[in-house]
Amino acid sequence: MASVTDPTRDPSASGKAAIADTHRIGDVLVEDGAITAEQLSKLLRVQARLEDHKPIGQLAIELGMLTRARLEEALRKHRRGLSIEGILVERGVIRAEQVAAARDALKGSSSDVARHLVDIGAVSERVYLLAYCERHGMSFIDVEPGLVDRSLLKKVSIKYLSRHRLVPLSVKDGRLNVVISDVGQSELAAELERLYGVPITFWVSERHKIAATLSALENETAEGRVATNRRIEYRNVAPGVTDDAGGAAEIVESVILRAIRDRASDIHFEPDPSRLRIRNRIDGQLIPVAEYPATLSAAIISRVKVLAEADIAEHRVHQQGRIYIRCDGEDIDLRASFYVTVAGENAVLRILRKGSTLVGLEEMGFSPATLTTFIQDVLEPNSGMLLVTGPTGSGKTTTLYASLQRLVDSSSKVITCEDPVEYVVDGITQCSVSDRPGMSFVDSLKSIVRQDPDIILVGEIRDAESANMAIHSALTGHKVLTTFHTEDTVGALVRLIQMDIEPFLISSTITAIVGQRLVRRQCAHCRVDYTPTAMEVRALGLSRDELGGFSLTKGRGCPACHYTGYHGRVGVYELLVMNDLLRDTILQKPAAHEIRRVAQEAPDFVSLQEDGVAKALRGETTLSEIAANCPRRPMMRPLRQLMEMCA
Ligand SMILES: [Zn+2]
Repeated sequence: MASVTDPTRDPSASGKAAIADTHRIGDVLVEDGAITAEQLSKLLRVQARLEDHKPIGQLAIELGMLTRARLEEALRKHRRGLSIEGILVERGVIRAEQVAAARDALKGSSSDVARHLVDIGAVSERVYLLAYCERHGMSFIDVEPGLVDRSLLKKVSIKYLSRHRLVPLSVKDGRLNVVISDVGQSELAAELERLYGVPITFWVSERHKIAATLSALENETAEGRVATNRRIEYRNVAPGVTDDAGGAAEIVESVILRAIRDRASDIHFEPDPSRLRIRNRIDGQLIPVAEYPATLSAAIISRVKVLAEADIAEHRVHQQGRIYIRCDGEDIDLRASFYVTVAGENAVLRILRKGSTLVGLEEMGFSPATLTTFIQDVLEPNSGMLLVTGPTGSGKTTTLYASLQRLVDSSSKVITCEDPVEYVVDGITQCSVSDRPGMSFVDSLKSIVRQDPDIILVGEIRDAESANMAIHSALTGHKVLTTFHTEDTVGALVRLIQMDIEPFLISSTITAIVGQRLVRRQCAHCRVDYTPTAMEVRALGLSRDELGGFSLTKGRGCPACHYTGYHGRVGVYELLVMNDLLRDTILQKPAAHEIRRVAQEAPDFVSLQEDGVAKALRGETTLSEIAANCPRRPMMRPLRQLMEMCA
């Protein structure tokens, strides 16, 4: 290793190789219009005077001649003119001297310089493969068994796949996606095309991940199909009850299994005159997953109705039902709804997973500074009211329960009134409100205060009456946690004032308001660098100059994310902690813009949009998700400062 990285070993050769790379990248930048020829000659002069070699691109950024994003763009455009090791040097991953030394070491052999750098441990395989993908215009993916469509394994043996280090993933838009390890394997395209009869799209993954995936698939095959085929147990349907016209039972089972595996929240069975379409809602988006001929529609819907214990003879009224299943050791409830349409009955299954719903505060995506403030200034005081705001589906209830879990201990009494109880939590007293006399929200709240509680969780404030009740509970020394359906934190204060709640009650009871959104997370499997569109930049009130210092990424779409570029979701938050100035302002019954001005002037207030932009710049989500989901406000502070606050 020492001999390879030692630049003094053969100074003349190393120097020459480094200079050769430098010239090519410099020319690329000039040709691309990123810098001028004069700037290049200045850069070369500066570079020559430096004691430690610095890549031209890096130097140009440091001297303010171009931004990192611009450099990446030029590199991408000209990747075919650059070597992989050249890309690695420009990225600052390795030094030009290391490349030169590797070239010397390989003199006379046909081995690849970049691969050699991996073999000697100078570069990780992942970093090398990312550059390899860039050079060859391919995509990187973290392959895993969950991505593999098992039906593709019928045509080839695992032995064959292992020999060629490849994994077939899925067929999409008439092309077969295949993962390979690296160089030279594209020759396999012809053979695979012949085997599967469709053109091939290649993806690249690390060798050890391919090997691990193949061995997992091999174990699965060895266990036999009997074990893997029937993985759903129906807890409420007698085993003998089936209605298996055209394999409907098997179809429904595979649809449900797939939805569970893909973390879907709902399954839609949508018949129309020409077909039955099945779509899954994943991370809030509907994704088409399958289509069946219209001749099977009735049998499939009927099978779902049997499972949900709905009336299969009745086709003219809307119905509801429930399916209780056990899958891979997890009890899952499916809430079924059948809606009569002109084209037949539509079925929607809402998947209710009990196991995975409670999340800790630390895992919710609060920035460290916000989390500390939230715990110390909002949760720890024994009284006061916490409002969690946001639209439906923004994760308000999750935040409420995560907060509650922090507060529950043997010395405090926690009582809830919810509509209905969503998560059952140990050690607290929970109540579902209902339409029955004496069981309404207001009735329940009146009774709760006589139950000697310390902490009261009110599912949701819906009107002035429940708002008043909740505020009065807080006024009498209880800690109250609740949700409120408003756009953001300031919106909640404005709504309360509009509900004619006494301003002094608002300012004396509310401790803090959390505003939140759930946005989609970038897919980690297919992340690529990108330049934001003019619309995204404008929508968020950003400037290209400021963004230039950051390298932005987004998912380009791959089998792992159903070609959406997103996988999972992350919370975006704003936390408004009441301060004296804000309390005084509220007493004046001010206009909305006045409250907003005072709130935003608090030095550590980070708005939803700001928190979202910070998360996009860190690659957790994208600017377009933030523009689409967060209320747009002028950005209050420079990006650098924002990134420090949210670090
Ligand atoms: Zn992806």
